[in-house]
Amino acid sequence: MYKMLFLLVVAVNAVVLGLSLWGSLRLSPDDLPLVALVNLAVSVAARNEAALRAFFWLLTRAPHKLPRGLRVAACRLSFHVGGIHSGAATTAAGWLAYFAVQAVRGRAATAGPAVAVTVVRVLGWVLVAAVATLCASSVPAFRAAHHDAWELTHRYLGWFTLGVLWAFLAIDAVRREGAGGGGGGGGAGAIAAWVLTAAITASVALPWVFVRRVAVTSLVPHRNTVVLQFAGGAPAAGTSGRVSHHPLGCWHSFATVAAARHGRTHAMIVSAVGDWTRALVESPPCALWVRRLHAPGFMYNIRMFRRVVVLATGAGIAPVLPHLLQSPAAVRVVWVCRDPETAFGPEIPAIVAEGVGSVVHDTATGGRVDMTELVLRVAHDAGDVEAVFVVSGRSVTRAVVGGCLVQGVPAFGAIWDS
Ligand SMILES: Cc1cc2nc3c(=O)[nH]c(=O)nc-3n(C[C@H](O)[C@H](O)[C@H](O)COP(=O)(O)OP(=O)(O)OC[C@H]3O[C@@H](n4cnc5c(N)ncnc54)[C@H](O)[C@@H]3O)c2cc1C
Repeated sequence: MYKMLFLLVVAVNAVVLGLSLWGSLRLSPDDLPLVALVNLAVSVAARNEAALRAFFWLLTRAPHKLPRGLRVAACRLSFHVGGIHSGAATTAAGWLAYFAVQAVRGRAATAGPAVAVTVVRVLGWVLVAAVATLCASSVPAFRAAHHDAWELTHRYLGWFTLGVLWAFLAIDAVRREGAGGGGGGGGAGAIAAWVLTAAITASVALPWVFVRRVAVTSLVPHRNTVVLQFAGGAPAAGTSGRVSHHPLGCWHSFATVAAARHGRTHAMIVSAVGDWTRALVESPPCALWVRRLHAPGFMYNIRMFRRVVVLATGAGIAPVLPHLLQSPAAVRVVWVCRDPETAFGPEIPAIVAEGVGSVVHDTATGGRVDMTELVLRVAHDAGDVEAVFVVSGRSVTRAVVGGCLVQGVPAFGAIWDS
């Protein structure tokens, strides 16, 4: 689905290009940056937390009466929306490159004061290089292997690109004005470009408006786990929050866990799997930077179904807990974990145990288990299960989601695209 959305965006742009080459669409070489801007705006919107919240909220209003196939398709579409983000960014790079080449060939940015023409052309190439680097550094293999480097590159090169975009528009306005055309550097196209750039800037800035340093109560039930408790605002089930030691450093995303939609506190459960999380468990913080705008993920979509089975391994139980607490009838939990009480303390296993039909498989006593077989058995026994959700590492997710789909049971898992 991710690749399909990517290709769909590329195809729409290819049609626009085809129509303009064919002559059915009037697109002058000087309009090319505007087309790139439309793509950049779509790309940024597809990753904006507020836009995603609105999109997921709307989607989950779909009544349960709708055919399950339709809801499954909508659910799958929602969390592959990153395909639109990457597709639109890649095509934006393509349009910018097309503009830059046309400028070199003397077909774009031709009229106006010589200095302005030269600067516009140079900035055009800088934009091509910046957007292309953003796209190239986001290929899954690089992103997965060097996540911190990718995050910092994406943020700072993204901000740099925005700055260059503003400079490009300003100098291009001077150029147009000097050329005596376009109504003082204006015209509908130029105004649209300013509006789109302002919208992109607002979209990029929005999450930063919600950055705060807040007090944290840290509990360490086990040498591999820390539970971070935050005062205030209980986030919706299925959202994740980001935390960091420094607002300009790397951010780390964890499921938000709230007992009630309008409670006074919420928590994050962090399992030590890497250097950063290990350090967090070993030196539990009393304050952290947080982003108060919580992003929805695929677990938000549990609402789209009457009843689901959720398989969680280890700390993957975190995003399941709010669903279990807020709508227990809708969720059958299968939790595969090594010695849950020791790993997470008594409270979390107690919440899971209270869930209707919950299955807790303790691998310390029960050994390894065929998770696909276990999940399908629970789904079959429950009788009215509409879908399976998997919260685990990549290999288990892939195996169980694939195994369920082969058996004709709709299944969803994380796609690690951000
Ligand atoms: C949407 C989402 C939200 C997440 N939120 C959080 C969060 O808030 N906090 C957090 O710390 N992490 C979170 N994670 C990360 C993730 O859930 C954990 O890192 C992951 O579940 C750990 O998986 P694990 O199998 O390595 O767990 P482990 O604790 O290593 O494994 C659990 C048990 O499963 C057994 N097991 C493992 N693999 C197999 C197998 N192939 N066959 C049979 N048994 C096996 C192991 O023996 C072990 O006893 C999230 C992940 C997703 C996708």
